[in-house]
Amino acid sequence: MNFRLIIVRDATVSSCPKCGTVGSLDRRKSKNRFESIFARIIRRKSYHCRECKWDGKLFAYRISRNWKSIVVNYIFLIIALLIILTALIILSKSIGSP
Ligand SMILES: [Zn+2]
Repeated sequence: MNFRLIIVRDATVSSCPKCGTVGSLDRRKSKNRFESIFARIIRRKSYHCRECKWDGKLFAYRISRNWKSIVVNYIFLIIALLIILTALIILSKSIGSP
């Protein structure tokens, strides 16, 4: 079962958000110290597109492409845990009662 809902990836290998060219993004260095620390915490980095001259910031985190099946996995896991918990409560009650 796959439980990786959020994926960390390098935007330099992904497509440009404006023109859609794959592998056209260059990483830019942060302008000041505050920005670099802030960017490190939230993993948001500055990028520049060589094709369309797009400048902007992209999150290193992205939601998995097959997030629906992962959500279903989580629901199954929660249901399984609830069944186990219910069984444990029933068992403890039957043991505890005289
Ligand atoms: Zn572009």
